[in-house]
Amino acid sequence: MLSSPESLTPDTVTPDRLLRQEVLAIKAYHVPASGGMVKLDAMENPYGLPQELRDTIAHLVADAAINRYPDAGAQQLRQQIREVTALPQGMDVLLGNGSDEIIQLLAMATAKPGGVLLSVEPSFVMYKMIAAFTGMQYVGVPLSDDFELDLAATLAAIRQHQPALVFLAYPNNPTGNLFDAAAIAQIIEAAPGLVVVDEAYYAFASDSFIPQLAHYSNLLVMRTFSKLGMAGLRLGFLAGSAVWLEQLEKLRLPYNVGVLTQLVAEKLLQHHDVLLQQAAQIREDRAWLYERLVGTVDVRTYPSEANFILFRVTHADRVFEELKRRGILIKNFHGVHPALDQCLRVTVGTSEQNERFIVALQESIHQSIQDESCVARK
Ligand code: PMP
Repeated sequence: MLSSPESLTPDTVTPDRLLRQEVLAIKAYHVPASGGMVKLDAMENPYGLPQELRDTIAHLVADAAINRYPDAGAQQLRQQIREVTALPQGMDVLLGNGSDEIIQLLAMATAKPGGVLLSVEPSFVMYKMIAAFTGMQYVGVPLSDDFELDLAATLAAIRQHQPALVFLAYPNNPTGNLFDAAAIAQIIEAAPGLVVVDEAYYAFASDSFIPQLAHYSNLLVMRTFSKLGMAGLRLGFLAGSAVWLEQLEKLRLPYNVGVLTQLVAEKLLQHHDVLLQQAAQIREDRAWLYERLVGTVDVRTYPSEANFILFRVTHADRVFEELKRRGILIKNFHGVHPALDQCLRVTVGTSEQNERFIVALQESIHQSIQDESCVARK
C-alpha cells in the first residue's frame, strides 16, 4: 500500500512513495552510448548537408534572435511544411518537438478515466509508454506472423475496447512494412475515436494517407523530419482538419519549437530537393542492403519501405555483441517482444557503412555459430 502524500514528510518522501505507480513501472527508453561507432541503430539520415547550405545556416544561426522567444505559432515554418507536404484543401498542421511530443499531446487530450489507446504489436514502443504515463489503458493487437495487420482481430478489439486513439505506423517500426491500405481504411471507418497514421518513414515509402485526410473526419496523419536529416532539430507535425487541431493546439506548449529549429528547418525545407535526393539514395542503398542480407547465411530478412531493415538470426544477442566489438551499433530486439525473438534492426547508412556492416555481420554470424557450438560441446 502506498502512503498518501498527506502522510509523507520531507524526511519520509521517496520516489516510491510519491510517484504514480504507472511511472514507477515504466522501463526508461534506453539510448545506448555510440561514441566512435558506426551508428546504424536509430534511423538517422547518415548524410551531412552541402557546404553552401551549411554556410547559409551558419549565418542564419549567427543572426538569430535567441534572446527572444520563438514565434509561438511558427507561422513561416508551418507555411513551408504545408507547401512541401501538399496537404489537401482546408487541412493544417500542428508542430511538435519531435513527433514523440505529439503522441504525448494526443494522449493527454484524450485520456479520460478508462480511456483506451490501441495499437498493434510489435510497433513503436512509445505508444505503449505514453499510454502508461498519461494514465490511458493500452491495448496492443498482435500482428500476424509476417507482421501484417490482423484485420479481424483489430476490428474486434476496436469493438470491445472503443479506443479514443488508434496509432498505426505506416511503414511500421521496427518491422519496416506498409500495412494493407484497405485494411487501414476499414479500421478508420470502424474506430469510434481518432486514428493517427504515423508516417515517420514517409520519405522512404511508396504510399501515404495524406490524400485521405479529406475523406475521413477521424483521421490524422503524423510525420517527423527526424528521418529526413533533422533528427537533431526535433521537429514533427500532425496534419488534419482545423476542427481537431484547434482543440489540440490548446495543449501544445506555446514555445515547443525553438528559434533555431524554426529557422534551420525553414531553410532546409526551402531546399527540400537536397533532402529528398538523400532519401532517394537511401532507398537505393536499402535495396542493395536487402539483397546482401537475403544472401547471408543464417539471416531471415523482412522487406522494408523504411530506412531500416529488420532481420532474424539464430543468436541475436551474440551477433549484436560481435557487431559492437567490430565498431558497429545496430538495434537488438531480442527479448523486447515475443514476435521479435532473435531479431535485429539495421538502419540504412552510407554505401561505405552498409558494406562495412555486411562484412562485419558475416563475420559476427560465423563467430556466433562457432561460439554456440563450443558451448554445446562443453
Ligand atoms: N513514430 C515512429 C514510428 C518512430 O519510429 C519514431 C522514432 N523512432 C517516432 C515516431 C518519433 O520520432 P521523433 O520524435 O524523432 O519525431
